[in-house]
Amino acid sequence: MLCAVRRRTTSELRRMLCRQNINPPPLRSVSTAAGAGAGAGDPPTRPGPPPIRVALTESAGRGVFATRAIGAGELVHSAKPLVAHPSPSHLRKVCYYCLRKKGSEASLISDEIAGEDLGSNPTSYYFCSESCVEPSKIFYEVERRADWALYDDHCRLRGLKYPLMVKRLACMVISGAVPADTVDILQPATLPQEALLEMEEEFALLRHTFKKASLQDELIALVLTKQWYINVLARIRINAFRIELVGGSHEDLFTSAAALVGSDVSVGNAVYMVPSFYNHDCDPNAHIVWLDNADAKLKALRDIEEGEELRICYIDASMNLDARQKILAEGFGFQCNCLRCLSGD
Ligand SMILES: [Zn+2]
Ligand SMILES: [Zn+2]
Repeated sequence: MLCAVRRRTTSELRRMLCRQNINPPPLRSVSTAAGAGAGAGDPPTRPGPPPIRVALTESAGRGVFATRAIGAGELVHSAKPLVAHPSPSHLRKVCYYCLRKKGSEASLISDEIAGEDLGSNPTSYYFCSESCVEPSKIFYEVERRADWALYDDHCRLRGLKYPLMVKRLACMVISGAVPADTVDILQPATLPQEALLEMEEEFALLRHTFKKASLQDELIALVLTKQWYINVLARIRINAFRIELVGGSHEDLFTSAAALVGSDVSVGNAVYMVPSFYNHDCDPNAHIVWLDNADAKLKALRDIEEGEELRICYIDASMNLDARQKILAEGFGFQCNCLRCLSGD
């Protein structure tokens, strides 16, 4: 993100990038099958790594640059979330893992996830396919052992969505599937004092929930510290994407994405690694779309030259200059100096 000030060496970045699964972009067919950013069953039309590299910019920390010319409309790459979670209003309307909307074929298959009953947690969630059940085991087997009523109510009553993502990540970490520093590569937000107080309350609730469940105390004590909670939430706050599913086909993307602006159709939120490295521009040359699940698709909005930086717009680009500057300063902590802002538009 533009406000990134934490510098990393190229080799460190490369190592991090290797851990992230960036799918090569299929050009003519965009499959949205769960768990298959690169099109399960479709032969890749252009094998090889995506045409981007992450490097330091002159003034805005990390950025994403084209390694070859990219054509307008081209799918640059796909990215799977590090953590995703349905929004409270869509909790049982979308897949609990990939956020795909429940279709007519919907069935509750969470009971089958570990082949036993749900014990003290009678809540069932929808998983759209076996390919979402399998990776969900890494958080769900921990999650289902605890009673989340208090924590979930706390989030729902206050309209909080990010603590639900922290809850999911905590379950993934406690299960041993991912390291506790999974989101450390992301730039953290500077948190105001009142946010810190709110977080202490959320943290106490999260800890209480785990303690009541029969989970190993030592493990929770080791992983789930207040500092961990604050570190994670500070990163999720500034890097989470609101997911609005476009649906339909690859060809419909431009028109559908425009139609979604301003409507409240967010099915959930997610954080990604590479998409978080894109800097902001009020007149962007790239954008992120979601077809029918939480896999982010980075698309070129116009022709991009080799070596050019790819930038996305973090906010509603139709706002005027003052409104944009205000929201970028308050929400993202930087003053925008893009060409559009400098021109006074
Ligand atoms: Zn799914
Ligand atoms: Zn700007």
